[in-house]
Amino acid sequence: MKKDIKSLSLAELESEMRERKVEPFRAKQIFQWLHQKQVTSFDEMTNLSKELREQCKEIYELPILEAIEIKTSKIDGTQKYLFQLMDGNVIESVFMKYKHGNSVCISSQVGCRMGCRFCASTLDGLTRCLEPSEMLEQIYRISKLSGERVSHIVIMGTGEPMDNEKNVLKFLSLLTDPNGLHISQRNITLSTCGLVPEIKRLAQEHLQITLAISLHAPNDEIRRQLMPIANRYSMEELLEACQYYFQETKRRISFEYSLIQGINDKREHAYELAKRIAYKNCHVNLIPVNPIKERDFQQTQKAAILEFKNVLEKNKINVTIRREMGRDIQGACGQLRKGYQERQQKTKEGKGCRHMD
Ligand code: SAH
Repeated sequence: MKKDIKSLSLAELESEMRERKVEPFRAKQIFQWLHQKQVTSFDEMTNLSKELREQCKEIYELPILEAIEIKTSKIDGTQKYLFQLMDGNVIESVFMKYKHGNSVCISSQVGCRMGCRFCASTLDGLTRCLEPSEMLEQIYRISKLSGERVSHIVIMGTGEPMDNEKNVLKFLSLLTDPNGLHISQRNITLSTCGLVPEIKRLAQEHLQITLAISLHAPNDEIRRQLMPIANRYSMEELLEACQYYFQETKRRISFEYSLIQGINDKREHAYELAKRIAYKNCHVNLIPVNPIKERDFQQTQKAAILEFKNVLEKNKINVTIRREMGRDIQGACGQLRKGYQERQQKTKEGKGCRHMD
């Protein structure tokens, strides 16, 4: 099998060149073509000799994602992209425009095996992990197709990034490389459902990225109803790991809390949550749950959301309510892909990029 050139670090590429008796500075040129100019073929690398380009074609694979569907919101310009990978698998990514810059939300796996009850991405389980190149490609293609600069990255699409730890770490180092897209670590958020040993290992990397924890409950009992991972690690263990992450990185933790009517959205839940996370350097992001057709979870009413927020604020917890982006092209995490798969099964049709709005 050919080697995936887009997943190689500059140092790895340099040693590859040395082995092949090619001048090492060629590695940097190739790396910049791949990660700064984001070309889709070796032929575009015009400062390399034809011979070297041919050699590269023989040895390396250059993974490219193909956009097969793009949905654009008429309200705020948010775009949802459905991409096909080289092996035919399909993933989704989101492009969002904010005052502080443009943000891309990427997937880290094809499917997911974490089994959170409210999430559409996990309904069919895990197909496979994404390679570093495939995570980068989501950003490169969106940047090219939209013609926009991307400054912020959130790893909050389909998949559990800490269940693909090695590739995600490699992706982060490529993404922040000064010879690549050079995204600032502070502009990257990684969201996890709470894999405790992996969080502790991530802390030891001492990165300046924001760690978001999908908490969604004020206690173990409710958390276990919603998230199977809560059976493996208690909230106490999880909060300890978060404290450790803060100690090691000095980065404030962000807790994600999806409000689900009648399940985790009562006043008493807000008090309980405030107590659990008091004195932690953290921030709570309240998200009205995005209902999926496979489950009958309902969104909490606006007034109750504000009430929940108030209780947290009175208890000196930083809290925001997540703005719903692209409400008209909605569909919770993983629903675009799921819908596509269901249509494919019905029609068994082929490819072609559909622009829908
Ligand atoms: N696996 C990671 C990242 C992917 S999901 C994690 O669990 O954090 C990104 C966020 O969206 C998580 O907080 C997840 O719990 C939340 N989420 C998934 N489906 C949702 C839905 N239908 N409504 C609201 N939030 C949802």
